[in-house]
Amino acid sequence: MPQQRLIEINELILEKPPGFVESTIAHEIGHWVLHVNQDEADGTTQQLELNLGNFGKTASDVEEPFVCRGASADTKIASIEWQAQYFASCLLMPRCVLEEKRKGRDLTKWSNLYKLRDEMGVSISNLTNRLQEFDWIYIPKGTREIYPGKDAANGQQRLFG
Ligand SMILES: [Zn+2]
Repeated sequence: MPQQRLIEINELILEKPPGFVESTIAHEIGHWVLHVNQDEADGTTQQLELNLGNFGKTASDVEEPFVCRGASADTKIASIEWQAQYFASCLLMPRCVLEEKRKGRDLTKWSNLYKLRDEMGVSISNLTNRLQEFDWIYIPKGTREIYPGKDAANGQQRLFG
């Protein structure tokens, strides 16, 4: 609810694995920062659309809560959700922190990834997605094999393929 500065989250997430709560909260903060007009929520400005001649809108339209829809087939919603998830990932796993933590560690070992996950307080899929973004590791879809980057994986596949 933007005007109450309230983010509501389903209590069921408390039963999810560690890291899920943090990830969800960071995701919702992402929506707040990226997709909610805070000035409007403060009541200091009106929604831009109102000034552009959308006179059909009433005050109650503006008060409507922003709804996080998670995964969606709708490309507009999917891109908004992707942005919030990417924001969460940057917030929870800043590159500079990971740069420090990867030093002297073999990231192609699951045991090291699980330790890093615990240190960062995220879920293992959050972590592996983030590390793959930097191409520090590469896990081919549907496998549990960790390569030290995409090139390494391709080289390996050529050797055996
Ligand atoms: Zn969302």
